[in-house]
Amino acid sequence: MGLVRAEIVLKNPSRPKARATTVEMLVDSGAVHLCIPEKLRARLKLEVLDRKTVTLADGSSREVPYAGPVEVRFKNRVGFAGALVMGDEPLLGAIPMEDMDLVIIPGERRLDVNPANPVLAGSIVKGAAAGDVAGGCFCGGVRYRFSGGMMWHGVCHCSVCRRFSGGAGGAWFGVLSAGVAVSGGAAFYGYKADSGNDIRRGVCGKCCAPVYNLNSMMPDVHIIAAGSLDEPGRFSPRLRIYCGGAPSWALPAGEDGLRRFEGMPQPEGGRKGVPERWQK
Ligand SMILES: [Zn+2]
Ligand SMILES: [Zn+2]
Repeated sequence: MGLVRAEIVLKNPSRPKARATTVEMLVDSGAVHLCIPEKLRARLKLEVLDRKTVTLADGSSREVPYAGPVEVRFKNRVGFAGALVMGDEPLLGAIPMEDMDLVIIPGERRLDVNPANPVLAGSIVKGAAAGDVAGGCFCGGVRYRFSGGMMWHGVCHCSVCRRFSGGAGGAWFGVLSAGVAVSGGAAFYGYKADSGNDIRRGVCGKCCAPVYNLNSMMPDVHIIAAGSLDEPGRFSPRLRIYCGGAPSWALPAGEDGLRRFEGMPQPEGGRKGVPERWQK
């Protein structure tokens, strides 16, 4: 994902007279907790409440102090969290991000309040809000939700989708990135497509299930793997593309109501590079 940094205000709520501290933090939705260096814990006079065992990126584990409570503020959002005391750099993980309903805007690599809930933080505790669609990977490590419509639905039998799925291909729909909130650690594999576009295939960093792709041809769109939907029936594909090179076992034997194309349907005007039939 590249590094995203943001100015976060931290405060010790149990000391009402203590000053708030603005800290530049690394934002990493792949990390779980708020993490702060010992120096910052001491400055905020946070009490160490417990110890937690953390697993580091290299697979090793170690015990670190757990301190709090910490009041965390960003723009119009506030949350309360416990902090792991470790490392040299403060880090904002998925728990405080979810708590404050903050998202990383992928195209711009910055932290912001969830555009779907600009005024008040939304929460999925009570289940998805009306109109919200949710999904995620196999292990639950990566979750997403979005509001707004699906822009196009299609099944792709190209050799790349076939290789990445290990099956008949990929089933995809597009959603405007501004309405998508992702939590958890998606990992990306990037490559240049024959078209010259930069593609980034996003999978869960833990279970490796495909979740969503990003394509430089449509920088403001998340291309979501339909099989990752909690309610896969919401996906209603209308076309099959790249049927030309597909092995016979990848395509249904009979008519299935999906229009078939040998390759990528040719653009017919409209949004540059996106076939008209795929636009809605
Ligand atoms: Zn997973
Ligand atoms: Zn494909």
